[in-house]
Amino acid sequence: MTSLKYFQGYPESIKDQVHNLVESGRLKTYLEKKYPNPHQINNDKQLYQYANDLRLQFLRNTPQISKVRYEKQKDLVKNALGTHTFVSRNHGGKLKSKHEIRIAMSLKNAPEEMLKMLVVHELAHFKEKDHNKAFYKLCEYMQPDYHQVELDLRLFLVLLDQGEGLF
Ligand SMILES: [Zn+2]
Repeated sequence: MTSLKYFQGYPESIKDQVHNLVESGRLKTYLEKKYPNPHQINNDKQLYQYANDLRLQFLRNTPQISKVRYEKQKDLVKNALGTHTFVSRNHGGKLKSKHEIRIAMSLKNAPEEMLKMLVVHELAHFKEKDHNKAFYKLCEYMQPDYHQVELDLRLFLVLLDQGEGLF
């Protein structure tokens, strides 16, 4: 079942539900009903603004974001749902950490909630490097239905793999 490749680590009951949704051909309808609105973040500049607004709203005492951009990614899930990099560079003997956020190009035509979920995920990594309890608490602080949206994003990826889209 290729559609389940994005759901590794999820309980069997969830996998069954995903399987049923896909097999019955109701996946697109389910997502369309739940997420009628695309986001309007079309370029890197808007994406930076969007991420920085969220940072200022929820995580004031975190370092400036150095770069935010859309990029081609082969496997969004493998990249831990967007890539988080803590690039250390040597500037005149001083070690500086660069906080960059990269969002998969395939999310350019995604519901607003899903884009937000990915940005929230990346911002949470500014404070917690691992996917631990504290990390997900931060995610839920910024987006209360974070877990549901992450699940639905994985469903959205299945839809994209079928050559379909939402908008
Ligand atoms: Zn992550």
